[in-house]
Amino acid sequence: MSLPIFAASAENAEIRDVEGRRYIDFAGGIAVLGIGHRHPRVIAAAQAQIGALTHACFQVTPYESYVRLAERLNELAPGAEPKKTIFLTTGAEAIENAVKIARYATGRSGVIAFEGGFHGRTLLALGLTGKVNPYKVGFGPFPADIFHAPFPDEYHGGSVAASMNAIEGIFHSSIEPARTAAIIIEPVQGEGGFNVAPAEFLRELHALCDRYGILLIADEVQTGFGRTGRMFAVEHAGVVPDLIAMAKSLGGGFPISAVTGAAKLMDSVAPGGLGGTYAGNPVACAAALAVLDVMRDEDILARAAKLGAMVRGRLHKMQHDARFACIGDVRGLGAMLAFELVKDRATREPASELTRRLVVRAAERGLVILSCGTHANVIRILAPLTAPLEQVDEGLSIIEASLADVLV
Ligand code: PMP
Repeated sequence: MSLPIFAASAENAEIRDVEGRRYIDFAGGIAVLGIGHRHPRVIAAAQAQIGALTHACFQVTPYESYVRLAERLNELAPGAEPKKTIFLTTGAEAIENAVKIARYATGRSGVIAFEGGFHGRTLLALGLTGKVNPYKVGFGPFPADIFHAPFPDEYHGGSVAASMNAIEGIFHSSIEPARTAAIIIEPVQGEGGFNVAPAEFLRELHALCDRYGILLIADEVQTGFGRTGRMFAVEHAGVVPDLIAMAKSLGGGFPISAVTGAAKLMDSVAPGGLGGTYAGNPVACAAALAVLDVMRDEDILARAAKLGAMVRGRLHKMQHDARFACIGDVRGLGAMLAFELVKDRATREPASELTRRLVVRAAERGLVILSCGTHANVIRILAPLTAPLEQVDEGLSIIEASLADVLV
């Protein structure tokens, strides 16, 4: 759903529309602005790069910002093994390439993904996406050898045991482990409703993958770069995936995505098998290097923890407010937080229409928020991690007032 707000300019956590109206931004262009709109150091780095080189195509004449950024991500990604990184442009492209690498490296074709997951809109990514309406309907058929297991999402009746059993079931009824290249998972489902995969589940998945020689791909497109309070959400579980797909907040507002993985996997693909004309654009690489510097110098991970604790506290307070019996659940990891709106706390029936009205009302009151969830009944908070706490507080007050408005 887009809002009738035409953005004209923005800075950190604020957007101004073409009429000069101010909005607090809790959407961050869908989780892209981890360090806010137009961070001065990102803009300076991009401007300097524009003055020197804007495009060359890395496969034709390589350039330094690409190599330096790859080295930084190789260092930052979890795991002691030597790693390598390839850059692309969008999240979907990172996912496609992670799967291509997994297929090439294993010589297998199958991929297991999760119900409710979102991995992008290109056809392979869409095949992995675990929601039909509105994403998949009308766009099939999808690539073969993709299977979906239930996400261990407790609030909606899932469990670690049920999900592990379902994967065994896939091995029993659909594809043998020896033909399965990868299991792909968002450590916290983004579009699917900020459902957090229990640490125990990620560890069990990792063990299962190890047992069968299957690669574990973490889709950190939405969770990456501090949103959950760690650089990558998998770090909370102490799990080292074979491949990590990244995008969004990596670029600080410039389009860039990446796949980082063990060098032996990344190097297995024959030259020319991976790439793209615009992949790892020099300006986007320079911006991303500045993003990583800002994350280090401004201690963004500590900031995310602080912001997360503050937002979580206020959302819990709202949940316990007698006026807001419609808030069925408050959940998330670090600063990746959301609340789910239900018609009845006992039945947990989704209150999708109420959620839609809340998003519209909040915009009228000067706040941009996004819904998510397979029934579009979850409100997610994606405020820049650099947002002044008073502004986050102001935004949460707008949510509270807007919810009260739409409940009458
Ligand atoms: N994976 C996840 C987890 C995402 O949240 C998204 C975008 N919302 C994508 C992949 C696709 O990214 P893009 O839209 O840049 O292709």
